[in-house]
This record gives sequence, structure tokens and C-alpha cells, in this order.
Amino acid sequence: MLLRRFASNVSALRAKDVSINAFVAFNDSESVSSNGPLNGCTIAVKDNICTSHLPTTASSAILKDFHSPFDATVVQILTKNGAEIIGKTNCDEFGMGSLNIHSVHGPVVNPFNVEERRAAGGSSGGSAAAVAAGLCHAALGTDTGGSIRLPASYCGVVGLKPSYGLVSRHGIISYADSLDTVGVLAKDVSTVENVFGHINKHDYRDPTSIDERVRERARNLSLEQYESNRHSNTQDLKGLRIGVPQEYFPSELSSNPIISSIRNILSLLRSRGATVLPVSLPSTKYALSAYYVIASAEGSSCLSRYDGIEYGLRVKPPGEENNIDTSAKIYAHTRSHGFGREVRKRILLGTYALSADAFDNYFLQAQRVRQMVRDDFDSVFFVSNILASSSTTPKSRKTDGVDVLIHPSAIRTAPRLPIADDAGEPESASRDTLQDYVQDVLTVPASLAGLPALSVPVPQAVRNQNVEKGDGWPIGVSVVGQWGSDELVLKVGRIIE
Ligand code: GLN
Repeated sequence: MLLRRFASNVSALRAKDVSINAFVAFNDSESVSSNGPLNGCTIAVKDNICTSHLPTTASSAILKDFHSPFDATVVQILTKNGAEIIGKTNCDEFGMGSLNIHSVHGPVVNPFNVEERRAAGGSSGGSAAAVAAGLCHAALGTDTGGSIRLPASYCGVVGLKPSYGLVSRHGIISYADSLDTVGVLAKDVSTVENVFGHINKHDYRDPTSIDERVRERARNLSLEQYESNRHSNTQDLKGLRIGVPQEYFPSELSSNPIISSIRNILSLLRSRGATVLPVSLPSTKYALSAYYVIASAEGSSCLSRYDGIEYGLRVKPPGEENNIDTSAKIYAHTRSHGFGREVRKRILLGTYALSADAFDNYFLQAQRVRQMVRDDFDSVFFVSNILASSSTTPKSRKTDGVDVLIHPSAIRTAPRLPIADDAGEPESASRDTLQDYVQDVLTVPASLAGLPALSVPVPQAVRNQNVEKGDGWPIGVSVVGQWGSDELVLKVGRIIE
């Protein structure tokens, strides 16, 4: 059965969004959605996810007039299950950024307190801000190196980056194919879990989508021990072993309220029966550099399709409008005009890392670090990585291993937005742009290893126990699990919130 309804009060949404800039397009057409379990659920979709009824720009001038002829699989699933897609959300251009300041649509302002003009985080800043401002029940985002978890942390909402390969990437505008994931943001863990439950499906149209049997096996393995030790009480964590990675408290994490919040959360989990253990992930210190080499290399390759010929923006060189022999110049002009400063920087960095001179020292070296990061995780988890080993028998389990890891989601609360220059780009001359990259230091390791990671806001009651109050802005805590243990990660998240 089809339900016909008028889109949620779009003018009210538009008015509320003026000071936040979370949306780049609203669905103001009369919408028709199926009857289903998600009826009444309004969902905002990040603008790098293709929708046939709304434009998809990935916040780039190069795609400013692009209309996808089809819906991404995730959008198809949600609408088929009765959800209402209310609009497209702002993001960093092609997902490249940590503060949602690199967007042709302008920056997103964190709704926690718009007067202070702080960043919503990036790149899924619009999705996080839309949820935080109460403009939708849930939002889809993408996370390549932290783009769901960082905005969730800065805006005070829940954000899940699922295990790589669980959610279809068909219809997602690629940033870095080996790292990109689609995930969900909402105000509470159960809404995230509900939406994720629908999109957590194999899709034959995505070659990296994981087979149903494999995901089921990983899910059962991760829950087995927890379920067998647990009493009927859902709040009981008896038998759950939580690891606290010592490398996730770097010098950049200077804010005491973040450390005390994590400490309080750990006491809470301990009081529910969990065992808390220190663990070491020694390759963490190399993860950020390796991530930026790999992501830029893949990004430079993924973005080569925007050439001004097949689709998207085309800018002809001045004076040569009628010359048909100018394709190389069209490429150059289109790409110089169509891509923003940050994206051009990533293309240069990535192309260099893949060049013959630099390949061994940069790209291959980064791949080696990626493997070290994966091995680190595998060495601390109780359950082995089902994708890495054929053996999943209890023998391959480490008796002293942990079930999940807990660490701060970010090294700080939301920073202030930089002032834009005349071109609308965040002023770079006076800014230390490396600081933007450093924001991802705690999120990229799980991305390199393809692991599920959930950021949950530290509840006010827990923060009230802190001696140091800090600036009062949201703080996120992350729960990370072995590949395929997304359900366990969500269960732990539900106890924290
Ligand atoms: N901030 C990171 C980057 O710019 C991560 C972005 C993302 O996860 N899409 O690459």
C-alpha cells in the first residue's frame, strides 16, 4: 500500500535551518511513500548520496546541476520501508574535511549554540546538525575517516560508522572506495539501531557488499560470549571485557573534562559488571599519516571522472569556446573552477603519492601501516576477524582479549568556525590547516581496519560528576568492536547514553 502525504512542514524546517545551514535542498514535493515500519520517520540524506528526486552536489561546484537518474540503494530501502526523505544535507566537498567548512553551500553552524558560531564537524556536518536541531528523526551520513563520528561528537548526537561492507555503497559518490562507509546519525541509539537494521543488507550492486552468511556469522560470534554471561537484565554487562587503548589519550587531548568523562563512563560500565582493561595499539601513532596518504591517493583516482566531458560542470578556456581541439584545456579549466581549494590539495597530494617517484615511500608504506593497524586491533580483540582468517573456532580466540574498546571520539569539543575569505573558502593564510587533519586522530584507525565504531554523547549526569566543567559543549565517547560486531557495539552504546 502507498501512503500519500505532504512533505513535513517544509517552510518551518527552512526557517529553522537559516542560522544552521544544515540543508542544501528540501523535499517540498508531495511525497508518496510505502506503508512500512519506518512510517513517520523523517530522514535527512547527506548530499553525496544519490537521490533521483533531489539534486546531489556532494557540496561541489563541479556537480552543481547534477541530478542522479536513480536512488542509492540505502535511499531505496528507506523509502520502501515507509521513511520520508525530507532533504539533502550539507557536507564537506566530496566528504573531504573535518569541520564542514569546505562546501560550495557555505559552512554548517553547530546548533548547540548558534551565537558562538562553532563548527558542526565534518564531513557529515549537515546530517549531525539536522538531527541535533530536531529537524529530522535520523540522518544518513558517510564516514571515510571519521565523518560521522566527529560531527556526532561535536553536535551531541549518536553516530554509527558500521563495519566496512555491511551497508551498500551503490549510489554513494566515492571519496576513497576502500574506506567509505554509509552510516546513521540520530538522537538516541535505538533510532540509529532501527534505521541501521533496515540498511544492513547485502546488495549485489555493490561489489564490496558482504554476503549475508558472513555477516550473520560475525554477528553471532561477537554476541555469543556476551549473551551467555548475561543475565536476563539488559543493563547487565557481566562477562563483557572492555579495552581502553592507552594510545588514544594523545598529548593533543589536553582537555581534562574529556578524560574525566571517559573515566566516569568506565566506572559506570564497571558498576554494571563489565571488566575494564588497559590495552595497547602501538601503530596508532602512524595511522593519521597513513590515512591521509591512502585517502588522498584513492580520492585523486575517484575524482578523475569529473573531467567536464561526460557530465557535471564544463568550463571552456576563454577565447577557445569554438575550438574543438581543446579537451585537455577543458579538463584543466573545469577542474580548476569546479573543485574547491581543499579538494585540489587532496588531488595533488594523492597524485603525488601514486607517482612513480613516491609510490614506494608513500603509498606502499601507508598500506603497510594500514596492515599494522589492523593487526593491532586483531591482537586485542577476543574474537578473531572473520574476514582475515578462515578459522572462527573458539580456539582462535584470545582468552585475554577484549570485546569492545572505549575511547574519546575527539580530542576536543567543537572548534570555532574560521572566517571565510572573498572566495568563500575558509581563510587559509592565517590558519593552521593541519589542525583540521589532527581532529581525526582518534577516528581513522577504525576506518583503516574497517571496524564498527559508534560515537555516543557523554550524558549530562555523567558530566556533572566532573570536577573540571570545561566549556559545556558536547563530548563524545566511542565504542569500537571487531569487524561485524555492530550489534554488540550498539548494545554497549545503549548503556552509556
Ligand atoms: N576528515 C577526514 C578527511 O578529510 C575524514 C572525512 C570522512 O570521513 N569523509 O579525509
